Amino acid sequence: MFSFSSIKNYHSFLAANPDGCSIAVSQYLAKIKEKEGLNAFVEVYAEDAITAAKAMDEKRTSGKPPGKLHGVVFSLKDVISYKGHKLAAASKILTNFTAIYNATAVEKLLAEDAIIIGRNNCDEFAMGSSNENSAFGPVKNAADETRVPGGSSGGSAVAVQAGMCMISLGSDTGGSVRQPADFCGVVGIKPTYGRISRYGLIAYASSFDQIGIFANSVEDAALVLEVISGADDFDSTVSQKEVPAFSNELDATQKTYRIAYFKEALEHPGLDPAIRLEIESFIKKLTSLGHTVTAIDFELLEHVVPTYYVLTTAEASSNLSRFDGVKYGFRADVGGGDLTELYKASRSQGFGKEVQRRIMLGTFVLSAGYFDAYYAKAQQVRQLLSQRTKAIFAEYDAIISPTVPSTAFKIGEKSDDPVEMFLADIYTVFANLVGIPGISIPLFKHPNGLPFGLQVMTSHFDEVSLLCLSKQLTETNDTN
Ligand code: GLN
Repeated sequence: MFSFSSIKNYHSFLAANPDGCSIAVSQYLAKIKEKEGLNAFVEVYAEDAITAAKAMDEKRTSGKPPGKLHGVVFSLKDVISYKGHKLAAASKILTNFTAIYNATAVEKLLAEDAIIIGRNNCDEFAMGSSNENSAFGPVKNAADETRVPGGSSGGSAVAVQAGMCMISLGSDTGGSVRQPADFCGVVGIKPTYGRISRYGLIAYASSFDQIGIFANSVEDAALVLEVISGADDFDSTVSQKEVPAFSNELDATQKTYRIAYFKEALEHPGLDPAIRLEIESFIKKLTSLGHTVTAIDFELLEHVVPTYYVLTTAEASSNLSRFDGVKYGFRADVGGGDLTELYKASRSQGFGKEVQRRIMLGTFVLSAGYFDAYYAKAQQVRQLLSQRTKAIFAEYDAIISPTVPSTAFKIGEKSDDPVEMFLADIYTVFANLVGIPGISIPLFKHPNGLPFGLQVMTSHFDEVSLLCLSKQLTETNDTN
């Protein structure tokens, strides 16, 4: 019997077990079957995974040097391209579309011996916070099956939460990795914009989107991040910067940090009082450990959600124009109708309600009469946020906040109120607006029994501090 705790321990297990990868994969396949009702996977690559596991076992036992992620079992959100496999963004409009190339992140995983076990459910085109906007139906939170897992990468979060794989890749445009990580009690990291190639990631809002990682520990997330990061000829927005060996940097974690938090974030009326209390007492603990923790004013907080929704819907309206019923997947039957009718019918039957809402909103804010009032204004706010962020990181190493204002809500509870759903993104969208890295670490348990996390953010390309501080905070919590 194999039980996963970390990649490091798994690798020791493999050293002692010649058929260790096969054992692990067959256990994960059994777990996926057992937990089918959670609806976290839309497709399981059982045969591929068994074959890959055998190949890894042979490679290792024949003395060939194993890759950094040798035999590590991954799942992928249904927006990440895996050659020869279906890719649908949980949308009817991509019915029967098969990926024709690997995302760069997937290429890098495979080059380090990872095994991909399946494709995860998510909100359609990564738009949502609850995984209820999926053509494959909602995903359930394994901590309480009447509740949502968060979104949009809900299936990926649950896959790690419920032990259906070791690591999962998701995408984060406004919190879609950190928020479900918070709701499911796992680690979720969104690196700096430009750290990981977006080649092969279905675009939602291109100046915000980043691939992110779900893991059981900060250490595992660090190792995966170092593998999938780095310059890429297929994506000119990826930084040319050298990628640090994040997993090695974690050893020196006893540093003390200058930490800030936004007063407006903790005092926000929408924040669950028990979450606020827990974070306040954690702040006291941090001070007693030698970190400095300072409350700072952040008067722009109330503008982040509207700015995010204006800009991302504008970008989405452009990105999603390629799904027209001609080039990809689903095509409506319009009998003898003309091309315009074909576009209209394919798009209105192929896209779900939330995606249509966002395409219309984005088209509106970009339209001639409203461009200056909405899109241009939102760009100015984004600029202001960037200046403010620079000033903050001149004085502080990290910003902490709750990841989400509440714990996981009931399935159906917010699905009729899109604005309420949008407002709950208040703590996560900031990192995407300014491009900084953010992580949610599962430190707390609410009196209602559900897990919740702490969000940590650091300056651009300072994932080393982000990971080191997060590891330290996790250990701080473990010993108390
Ligand atoms: N909840 C946010 C939204 O609905 C975030 C989505 C994401 O990060 N992909 O847009």
